[in-house]
Amino acid sequence: MPAKKRRLESRQSSKACHHVPQYETDWVGRTYVGCPICNRWKVMKAKPAPPDGKRLAA
Ligand SMILES: [Zn+2]
Repeated sequence: MPAKKRRLESRQSSKACHHVPQYETDWVGRTYVGCPICNRWKVMKAKPAPPDGKRLAA
């Protein structure tokens, strides 16, 4: 077991990792952002809705 494999594997940071974020869209229309390497996905509430400017649910 080489001790050189000191990667961020079990680093449970609340923020996203430093991998390149991937964006996946569900068949329902939901957008997931996450990392396929860490297998951490998070549903994005931001739906591709028309720029209304009235749905600021942030
Ligand atoms: Zn990652």
